[in-house]
Formats: sequence, C-alpha cells, structure tokens
Amino acid sequence: MRHNIKEKKPMDKAAVAMILCFSVVALASVFTVKSSLDKINLSDNTDISVPQNDESKDRSVTKRVPTVDSQDNSQSNVQKENTGNPSGSSAWTAPVDGLITLEYSTELPIYSKTLNQYMVHNGVDIAAPLDARVQAAAAGTVVETGKDDRLGYTVKINHGNGFITTYSNLSDKILVESGDVVKKGDIIGGIGNTSLFESSEDSHLHFEMQKDGNLVNPADYIKF
Ligand SMILES: [Zn+2]
Repeated sequence: MRHNIKEKKPMDKAAVAMILCFSVVALASVFTVKSSLDKINLSDNTDISVPQNDESKDRSVTKRVPTVDSQDNSQSNVQKENTGNPSGSSAWTAPVDGLITLEYSTELPIYSKTLNQYMVHNGVDIAAPLDARVQAAAAGTVVETGKDDRLGYTVKINHGNGFITTYSNLSDKILVESGDVVKKGDIIGGIGNTSLFESSEDSHLHFEMQKDGNLVNPADYIKF
C-alpha cells in the first residue's frame, strides 16, 4: 500500500503539474485572446470614433454656416446703415415708370440685339416711350451732362454717401446742367434713342448706379 501510495504521489504531482501547466497555458491563451479581442474592440472603437469625430466636425461646420450667414447679414445691415439716406427705400424712386427689359449683368455677358454679340450690361434698361419724362432717382447734385459716344445723351447725379446714378439714351433736351442741385423726382430730361450701343432695343432708359466707384445693380436699391 505504501509503495503504491508513494508511486501514486509523484504521479499525482505530475498530473497536478500538468494540469497546472495546461491551466496556465489555457489562461494565458484566454488572456491573449482577450487582449487581442480588446485590441480589436479598441480598434473598432477607434474606427467608430473617427467617423463620430467627423460627424461632430461636420456638425460644427454646419453650425458655423448660419453664424457666417448671420455675420454676413449683420455686415450687410451695417453697410446699409452706413450708406445713410440714399440707401433707404424712401430715398429712391424709379427714374421712369416701366419694366426692366434688360437686366444688370456685369459678370455674365448677355445678348445685345444692336451689336449682335454677347456683352456685359452695366445697368438696367427700363422700357419707356420716346420723350417720356426721366426724373432724378434721389436728391443730389448733377455732376455731368453730355453725349457719350456709346450710350448717347447722359446725365450723372452724385447723391452723396458714394452713390452716383447715370441716365443714358436720353433725348437731346436735357433739362439740367452740371452743378444743379436736384430733388428726388425732379425731371432731368426725356427718353431718346441716342445710344449707339442700344439703338436696336425698344425705346428705353439705360440706367446705371455706382456705389463707392463700383457698379451696383440698381434693382438692389430701387423698385421698378
Ligand atoms: Zn442698357
């Protein structure tokens, strides 16, 4: 019996050692598997977190857009406030009663019937019959009268605050002189057909507007 027990004990020890070894190996493998799984999870998380970050970035960008817009709005409001009296809708009136037949287009060339080609249009053409009265679009001082080679008889009025209006394709009966102070609605002349560049268009006033030396769309300031 003792002998058997003695023999068994080393066997047990060996078995225990083997079991321990296996369990260690098993545990180790479990841990390695776990750690690798954790790594995968981590990498998955990072993969997921990247688009989340992108989304949050996108959200922040889309959130910024309205603030940019609102800033632009506030800036344009400030600009409108800075322009003073002539910018107010009540300060302006249409120089003639009529519809716009050719839009302002300084960037996209539009077709000119007269010249049979596409060209920019620095003002608006307002349909009106020959000799129809043309009035000052706002109060100001006449700074130029005369015949322009391309646009015919023309009157220029400075309204202050950087605004200058130009009335072209007038008849030769111009009723104001350079230096005259005019009120809004004062008659400055009549519709003619003196613009070489627009002689094939129907009877109209060619009307330009400048703000601080740059052409602007009169329709942005005046209701036609
Ligand atoms: Zn024109």
